Amino acid sequence: MSNCAIVGINWGDEGKGRMVDLITDKYDAVVRYQGGGNAGHTVINEYGKFALHLLPSGIFRQGVVNVLGCGVALDPENLLREIETVREKGVGIDESNLKISDRASLLMPWHRDLDGLEEARLADKKYGSTRQGIAPFYSDKYQKKTVLAGELFYPERLREHLAELLEWKNLTLTRVYGAEPYTKEMLEGWLRDYAEKIKPFITDTGKLLREAAKNGKNILFEAQLGSLRDIDLGIAPYTTSSNTTASYAPNGAGCPGLRIDEVIGVVKAYSTCVGEGPFVCEWFGEEASRLREAGGEYGAKTGRPRRVGPLDIVATRYGVQVQAATCIALTKLDVLSYMDKIPVCTHYLLNGELTDEFPFPAALPDAEPVTEYMPGWDCDISGCRSWDELPEAARNYVTFIEENIGCHIGYVSVGPERDSIIIR
Ligand code: GDP
Repeated sequence: MSNCAIVGINWGDEGKGRMVDLITDKYDAVVRYQGGGNAGHTVINEYGKFALHLLPSGIFRQGVVNVLGCGVALDPENLLREIETVREKGVGIDESNLKISDRASLLMPWHRDLDGLEEARLADKKYGSTRQGIAPFYSDKYQKKTVLAGELFYPERLREHLAELLEWKNLTLTRVYGAEPYTKEMLEGWLRDYAEKIKPFITDTGKLLREAAKNGKNILFEAQLGSLRDIDLGIAPYTTSSNTTASYAPNGAGCPGLRIDEVIGVVKAYSTCVGEGPFVCEWFGEEASRLREAGGEYGAKTGRPRRVGPLDIVATRYGVQVQAATCIALTKLDVLSYMDKIPVCTHYLLNGELTDEFPFPAALPDAEPVTEYMPGWDCDISGCRSWDELPEAARNYVTFIEENIGCHIGYVSVGPERDSIIIR
């Protein structure tokens, strides 16, 4: 038995979905343990191209059990839509390959409303939320004001619970934001149209995973976003509302006793960031547009253009430490092929001093990037399938990163397709 977590090292969108899709055939279960429908994992395989938001990326592999753990923000509306989209491409999804934790909390329709209302109130100070209701959802969860998926099997108790929540939530909606209240009928409609339909998938996934571990099965944990978005260790307040770190995986899976043997940290060969907040090595203008176009850097969920810049060694090293990564997958190296020289941000200049330590969030807006350049390779590398096939300049870039972030780069991805990978 060997368990592995695939996590993002930076701001998210590093290509985790393609890595999970690549290695899922070695695992019996793939578990999503945090986050919700606010980000998208892009997977390209024999069924087509998918932006998965809630479904674990193991859904395409026969025999793999996909689990949504108790740490996720379970949005029945989004999940059902996603199941339909994936089914339409010929992928079988039923109770045998998708399991939802009975302890996962349900994201309610008002969470999405509140997300939008709060971003609108913040105006030019907004956090850059995807408005999927994630922050209001997790706030309510920690206030113990959410409904657990398993409560759907206790209709009497659920009715009472929803009535209490409705009264409480309407106070915030109407008195704080001046918005329309929800009615009992609206909630009943939501229960009937969405929540009831996910019931067949709901089970005690903690028990399932404990038994899987006992029987020597291999479990893969799939994270959303990246280290710098972790609620505790990220660039507050521009984080997400959950723990994106590998150490949270067993908890968010609902089976805290599971051991993680390997943490694969995914790093993009350059930097991208969606949303607001300090992004030290950000490029603007023509240089940024060229990189954005070369990498197709538009949000998988929102279509928003991503902010781009060179690889940031300072942030990446911090991300590696926070994730306790044992191995790195470097993605999108092929995208840099158009550059004559490859930029790397090696240090920050902070209050007149050079530093290679990632600063405290409040100091980040004052940091300036210090950029070095390495020779480019000036040829298409997307067909390379072995380390030796890569041009020397590309190999030098990879080993430079490896030495500076202090973690072995075990995978180099040179294209979005499943087989466009070099394993070292
Ligand atoms: P995730 O959320 O971490 O899974 O990342 P996203 O799916 O948001 O973004 C990764 C994007 O890069 C997707 O469009 C992938 O298909 C694409 N991608 C992943 N690896 C590579 C690669 O090595 N080369 C290229 N050109 N595209 C890649």
